[in-house]
Amino acid sequence: MKVLVAEDDPVTRRLLEATLQKWGYEVASVRSGREAEEALRKGEARLAICDWMLPEVSGPELCRRIRSAEGGALVYIIILSARDSREDLVEGLRAGADDYVIKPFDRQELEVRVRAGQRVLDLQQDLLDAQERLRQMATHDGLTGLWNHQGILEALEREFNRHVREQSSIGVAMLDVDRFKQVNDTHGHQVGDTVLAELAGRMEQAVRPYDTLGRYGGEEFLLILPGCDGESAAKIAERVRTAVSDRSVATTGGPVSVTASIGVAASSDLAAASAADLVRAADTALYQAKADGRNCVARAAP
Ligand code: GH3
Ligand code: MG
Ligand code: MG
Ligand code: MG
Repeated sequence: MKVLVAEDDPVTRRLLEATLQKWGYEVASVRSGREAEEALRKGEARLAICDWMLPEVSGPELCRRIRSAEGGALVYIIILSARDSREDLVEGLRAGADDYVIKPFDRQELEVRVRAGQRVLDLQQDLLDAQERLRQMATHDGLTGLWNHQGILEALEREFNRHVREQSSIGVAMLDVDRFKQVNDTHGHQVGDTVLAELAGRMEQAVRPYDTLGRYGGEEFLLILPGCDGESAAKIAERVRTAVSDRSVATTGGPVSVTASIGVAASSDLAAASAADLVRAADTALYQAKADGRNCVARAAP
């Protein structure tokens, strides 16, 4: 872990650097409060030991600035000062410091206080990581890695609103794998899972980088196509349909061939009032594609 030392006195600074390095920390040193603020804002270190009296920006002022900055709660600051009154300590902590150590510092005391800070930061990081994992799990599908039902609908809501604001067209495509129950019945559910995961990868390859793909339900996928009218959406859907069916999927049960039907709808064709209207129209078109004999793309009637 890296520790930022903000100290204008060269002797103390060198002593701190050597001591921290001996304890196994990487050290970045600055001479002024302004440089310290810059380094902490850039995320160069998350634990800082700073002097009270510093050129340009004092230790307490540095604390106040960091605490009010975005992400500033995630920095651990120890003020190291020769000001040894209770009032000073209270003022330093009130300014936002996490801890306060009096100069000349006792090495053992400083070490345990730095270690305590590291413990807090490590715990904080674990919580942030867990939160990120939960967020990922809540919005993504475990089998395919795509957005899940909730996630893709939220993405569509955002995109739809953006297109209303920009007065441009947006397309959606609803894809359903044909006779997928047969795949499960013939090869088993696990092979069915392998096929779904492989198809998801192929679909992602077939769309544009700024299209969004989600698993809407079991073997149904929803594709958001920004900037597309009905015709261009149908073209992309056709590309996706081909990618799904043009070669078999290798599985533990041998090669499995599947096809898919796709319903396409675009806001320019329908004057759709909401994202839900668009999904409904794509779903109706999907039924049409199934009725037309499957393995094809159908467009919602303008
Ligand atoms: P159609 O062409 O009319 O769509 O026929 P279909 O058999 O695909 O339609 P149906 O809706 O009757 O069956 C869908 C099947 O998809 C049934 C279900 O067991 C299977 N399925 C849904 N989710 C999963 C999954 O996560 N894994 C596997 N292996 N199968 C799934
Ligand atoms: Mg000083
Ligand atoms: Mg289905
Ligand atoms: Mg199906």
